[in-house]
Amino acid sequence: MRKPIIAGNWKMHKTPSQTVSLINELKPLVKDAQVEVVVCPPFVCLPAAKEALAGSNIKLGAQNMHWEEQGAFTGEVAPGMLKELGVEYVIIGHSERRQYFGETDEMVNKKVLSAVAHNLIPIICVGETLEQREQGSTEQVVDRQTRAALKGLSPEVADRVVIAYEPIWAIGTGKTASSDDANEVIGYIRKVVGEVLGSQAAQQMRILYGGSVKPENAAELMQMPEIDGGLVGGASLKAQDFAKIVKY
Ligand code: PEP
Repeated sequence: MRKPIIAGNWKMHKTPSQTVSLINELKPLVKDAQVEVVVCPPFVCLPAAKEALAGSNIKLGAQNMHWEEQGAFTGEVAPGMLKELGVEYVIIGHSERRQYFGETDEMVNKKVLSAVAHNLIPIICVGETLEQREQGSTEQVVDRQTRAALKGLSPEVADRVVIAYEPIWAIGTGKTASSDDANEVIGYIRKVVGEVLGSQAAQQMRILYGGSVKPENAAELMQMPEIDGGLVGGASLKAQDFAKIVKY
């Protein structure tokens, strides 16, 4: 059985002190969660977050990382630095990184392999633009992104790799993919994972949905058989809303 994950992507929101307040508000609300709960604050908030999370069931994630151990990469953060801060998950290849910071499928692949090698669980984001959806190329896009991201990965680590299907047109727009559409695309991604890593790996790998997940639509999305949880942006910044999604 795949244990669902509800992960909050805080993006470039919250200072260290605001991080502590949000976590302190969230902790009692999700303490009996049946799912894995993850929060991904900005890099500079990770130490404060780790301290505030002590003794709670909420796990810590980062929003990005470089693939190298160290070196002359001004402004970048290495996997070992995240590990030392107690980070367990790392979002890789979010559409905002691909769109605004030039991340390519090849870079995403290097980051995924490096995350796994450092015992960090990558949450790999894939998804199509509105134009690609309207052209009918959703499957082609997620097929390419998924194959590229998983290249060179061992099937043995399938339970320590997570994919998030995030249609770009649904991110931060208030538009959500219908539960049937999301389930269908995630089923397709699982088929591709099976072709790359084998059917056992495909059954083990958790594939989340992301894109305007809210308390009102979480239950319908999460009850779909292929959907193993959610990557939540905007609604993860409000403790009450995020907790409602966690308890869908
Ligand atoms: C995201 O950025 O990963 C996301 C899903 O954002 P939102 O929930 O705000 O659409």
